[in-house]
Amino acid sequence: MSSVLVVGSTALDSIKTPYQENPRLLGGSASHAAVAAGFFSPVNLVGVVGDDFPSEYVELYKRHGINIDGLEHKSGQTFHWSGEYEVNMNNRETLSTILGVIEGWQPKVPDSYKKTPYVLLANMAPDVQHAVLDQMENPELVVADTMDLWMNTTKDELLRLIKRVDALVVNDSEAQLLTGYDNVVVATKKIHDLGPKYVIVKKGEHGAILSGPNELFIAPAYPLEKLVDPTGAGDSFVGGMMGYLASREGGHEKNLRKGIVYGTIVASFCCEGFGLHRTGEVTGEMIESRTQELKKMSEW
Ligand code: AMP
Repeated sequence: MSSVLVVGSTALDSIKTPYQENPRLLGGSASHAAVAAGFFSPVNLVGVVGDDFPSEYVELYKRHGINIDGLEHKSGQTFHWSGEYEVNMNNRETLSTILGVIEGWQPKVPDSYKKTPYVLLANMAPDVQHAVLDQMENPELVVADTMDLWMNTTKDELLRLIKRVDALVVNDSEAQLLTGYDNVVVATKKIHDLGPKYVIVKKGEHGAILSGPNELFIAPAYPLEKLVDPTGAGDSFVGGMMGYLASREGGHEKNLRKGIVYGTIVASFCCEGFGLHRTGEVTGEMIESRTQELKKMSEW
């Protein structure tokens, strides 16, 4: 079994849906991704929090077996994101983003993390993703997630990053924004031209697409009756996928399809509760049983 390094935002999230409002939940791309990856393999977390970061959230990381030697505590405010969902829960608006201690943060990867074979650059500023990648020694698989903000504000840095990774994860609107093509198949090809061997497009309730050399794989999403809060679903997806890949023998090529399916399953749990409430109570058996259910539903 290999381990996964996860770097990204470690945040406090205040989330409003048409039905409920929850302030200062544990959130951030790295928190969701690390907990998801932790279901399958050991995780080394790199992040930064301020002095307002509740100790119970640190305990949650520990309970999930996440190594927090790379979680820096700085004086100041923790990164705080707040967002509001529309009635259909697909569209959301960012109400505010307070960078706090993440602003100007220069990540330091502990020596004990530097040889971690699986590297997940969860969504955050591309210069921080670069800085972490610069400190890693011969990773086996590097996957990056990103968002529209970086395409609009730091595109050159992002393009330089995309060249350095094995796989890029985007959602369908980001694929369009990045390439200028609204057809997802064409957009995927254009992203390959930017460098990555694999392109993974998240399509929310419609699952995900994997495009690799000579292959296209379509994964369904687990059909949920009730969506409580989709925040972090994308991060849980990619975290679950990386955790699964690191847990398997035989290299990532062989296991990518299954990894994507396990990622969609962990993401489905994430959507069933606010923040990490639901994901935090999930067990390996629950993941396996839902995976088998999805398999039965999609076999033909
Ligand atoms: P997702 O729902 O997968 O898009 O991820 C939501 C998570 O991304 C939330 O927990 C936020 O804390 C985090 N997030 C929002 N904006 C940013 C940003 N600019 N940089 C890093 N993380 C962010």
